[in-house]
Amino acid sequence: CGIVGHVGPLNTTGSDRSLTVLLDGLSRLEYRGYDSAGVALAGPAGLDVVKAAGKLAGLRERLEESSPAPATAGIGHTRWATHGGPTTANAHPHRAGRVAVVHNGIIENFRALREEVEAAGRELVSDTDTEVVAHVLDLDYGQRLALAGEGADATAVLVASMRAVTARLEGTFALLALSSDAPGTIVAARRSSPLVIGLGEGENFLGSDVAAFVAFTRRAAEVGDDQVLALSAQEVRVWDRDGAAVEPATWEVSWDA
Ligand code: GLU
Repeated sequence: CGIVGHVGPLNTTGSDRSLTVLLDGLSRLEYRGYDSAGVALAGPAGLDVVKAAGKLAGLRERLEESSPAPATAGIGHTRWATHGGPTTANAHPHRAGRVAVVHNGIIENFRALREEVEAAGRELVSDTDTEVVAHVLDLDYGQRLALAGEGADATAVLVASMRAVTARLEGTFALLALSSDAPGTIVAARRSSPLVIGLGEGENFLGSDVAAFVAFTRRAAEVGDDQVLALSAQEVRVWDRDGAAVEPATWEVSWDA
């Protein structure tokens, strides 16, 4: 239902910028309605996923209990259940191996994909279409990493996997992925479900709606259908479905936050 993403410099002084941005964004997206919420944070210490059924207050409590390590990137989600009840297990982000994923929309061919990942030995812990996509992505990513060998650029490999996997998806999606191998990068894609880039100074944002980041930047950039993007603190790169680089159109958000 609601998506927010942030990449920025590592903040080791205690106040974690990514987490601050994610929680602000999620609270600004609350008006859309939701049944559960969660965040994934990536940094030098690895990848943490924290989620909770119910209101954001429940997520905030869990975050206080678990106090995730300082992060360089984060993705957050408020869920409006379409596949599987409104439980904590079904809340996003969904983790599969080295990746964590948030998703808005519906994957129509998730049953066939579910059989495929189960045949590959994956055990699913939710009833969602989204968790299936997380496993398809992680399996493809693992294969490509192995082929690329020692010293592979994890971001480039994850971008290739995102392009290959989204080409196999039927349905609608705004999809954000974080990997523990590239903790300063978010890789994302969309089809028929909104996703907007927010351009900051030394940090960048993603949102299902500009409300997700308007408190932090008013410079927005467009993501087209079937485009894939990689977002780091310094750089936003966008490609079309064939892998050709795209220069996204930008605009200034004019309404008040
Ligand atoms: N289909 C996904 C689910 O049920 C995403 C729902 C949403 O857009 O929030 O988990």
